[in-house]
Amino acid sequence: MCGIVGYIGKEKNALRILLNGLKSLEYRGYDSSGIAYFDNDKIITIKEKGKIEELEKILDYSIKSNIGIAHTRWATCGDANKTNAHPHSCGKITIVHNGIIENYNELKNQLQKNNKKFISETDSEIIAILINKYYEEYQDIIMAINKTKEIIKGSYAIAILCEDIKDKIFAIRKDSPLIIAKSKNAAFIASDVPAILNYTNKYIILNENEIAILTNQNITVLNDKLQQIKKKLLTFKGNITDAQKGNFKHFMLKEIFEEKDVIKRIIKKYNTVEKLNNKLNFLDKYNSITIIGCGSAYHVGIIAKYLIEEYANIPVNVEIASEFRYKKNFFDKKNLAIFISQSGETADTLASLREVKKEKIDTLGVINVPESSIAREADNIIYTEAGPEIAVATTKAFTAQLIIMILITLYLGYKNKTFTKDFLNSTLTNIDNLEEEINNILNKSYKEIASKIAQAKNIFFLGRNIDYGIALEGSLKLKEISYIHSEAYPAGELKHGTISLIEKNMPVISIITKEHIFDKTISNIKETKARGSFNIVISNKQVIDADINILVPDVNPILQPILVIIILQLISYETANLKGCDIDKPRNLAKSVTVE
Ligand code: GLU
Repeated sequence: MCGIVGYIGKEKNALRILLNGLKSLEYRGYDSSGIAYFDNDKIITIKEKGKIEELEKILDYSIKSNIGIAHTRWATCGDANKTNAHPHSCGKITIVHNGIIENYNELKNQLQKNNKKFISETDSEIIAILINKYYEEYQDIIMAINKTKEIIKGSYAIAILCEDIKDKIFAIRKDSPLIIAKSKNAAFIASDVPAILNYTNKYIILNENEIAILTNQNITVLNDKLQQIKKKLLTFKGNITDAQKGNFKHFMLKEIFEEKDVIKRIIKKYNTVEKLNNKLNFLDKYNSITIIGCGSAYHVGIIAKYLIEEYANIPVNVEIASEFRYKKNFFDKKNLAIFISQSGETADTLASLREVKKEKIDTLGVINVPESSIAREADNIIYTEAGPEIAVATTKAFTAQLIIMILITLYLGYKNKTFTKDFLNSTLTNIDNLEEEINNILNKSYKEIASKIAQAKNIFFLGRNIDYGIALEGSLKLKEISYIHSEAYPAGELKHGTISLIEKNMPVISIITKEHIFDKTISNIKETKARGSFNIVISNKQVIDADINILVPDVNPILQPILVIIILQLISYETANLKGCDIDKPRNLAKSVTVE
């Protein structure tokens, strides 16, 4: 959450570079934004409430500056207003911060007793105040930053300017992402790679307890003993167009259209039994699996549970990371814990990983962003290779996670002899051929359904078995971007209370792809119809009780969730579009949830 950018270079166009950087990170937070830069010897701060375009309106680009820091906020402490927007300053120090300072109340109380005045309601202001206090005391900025970092608790990525030092930017981080990059004539700080891709694809990752010092010539990194250390230079493999909208109206639509390419990219690496064996044989030694994630990643876990249990005969437990990390958990050494996260920085998932590692249980990360925290800390890692996902509501990263879990299912099922090598080979071929089916889905219009849904205040999504897992994700997608209230229920569960909410004309979206429960879900649809619901049914066989029936190709059942979810993503997209919602940046949300 929140985007940070820093620039120091020979060219005096800091304002433009920082603003462009912020725009490429706006998916990380967008309730206010701000910028601080050196104008000769003074640090000037400009901030504004609302999206970055509001800040853009008040910036004077004729100002020449070669150094600055910038921030787009997702408020955690204090209203989303101009005063609370970053940067925050105290004395000679100006900072931007991503994360939460957990002990700020305690620190604030102590400082207030000494008459220190606070301007904002944020936790972040304490950082500027502390660094300034210790800078006055030690007259040494590194000592001041180091001392502050020892005192503050919580998560942070922080970029710092000091008015006495106009040729350096300083940075520290803990549990919030931050990369540092260097081009020929400049150095950059950013929360994520898209912000630097116009200038360079080479970057380093700052670790906990390190301090980075950037000049226009070089980057120096100090360890916790304040000794200079060498860092590994990483190369971003994608290209800049991956993070651009192209001809699409929204990133979300572009990313839905990219799903078939993502599937192709993944299956190329796993499309024979040998490749599957080579890549996944580390899975051989486990008797059970626990899957941990948040939001859509948790839904992938639910679908995977149904698949792995049915096709591979291995028990699977699925946990919401924010619950898991604070409860008592039971493991044995033959359990594998799988952590699913697009960003690899999801705070609760990362914390759960650390809890599991303490128990000496093996861990696997299913992650999209290379070199992210989970990717570095898990024992094994499978990259989903979906490329940068910019829309806040996940689509292609979800599908990529699902394909990886399907491949894991196939591998485990084959090893456990629950199906034959022929079934495995034909399923791998089926995945390779999904493109055609997906193209058919993409070429259809979902406007009629969207217009029906757009009028509704409440909606139910129903399904059983894996169809229930898909229903959960379909419902979340709709809520996220169209703000229509919806609930996903296991179809048989509705009558145990919730059916009381069905009103005349209320849309009920049901998913039926599993043969053995087809008639059961039909009965549940009838129950809602009898109470006046408008029934949209997505199924692989015709359903006469449906008011609208979308038929999905009757592909290999293990792959059915992929096709259904793309349809549901498109329905949500069209509904939100019809309602005129800000699809890529839905209200109150931000991508990469780096706070708990
Ligand atoms: N906790 C800080 C605030 O509320 C930073 C939030 C963010 O990461 O955007 O201002």
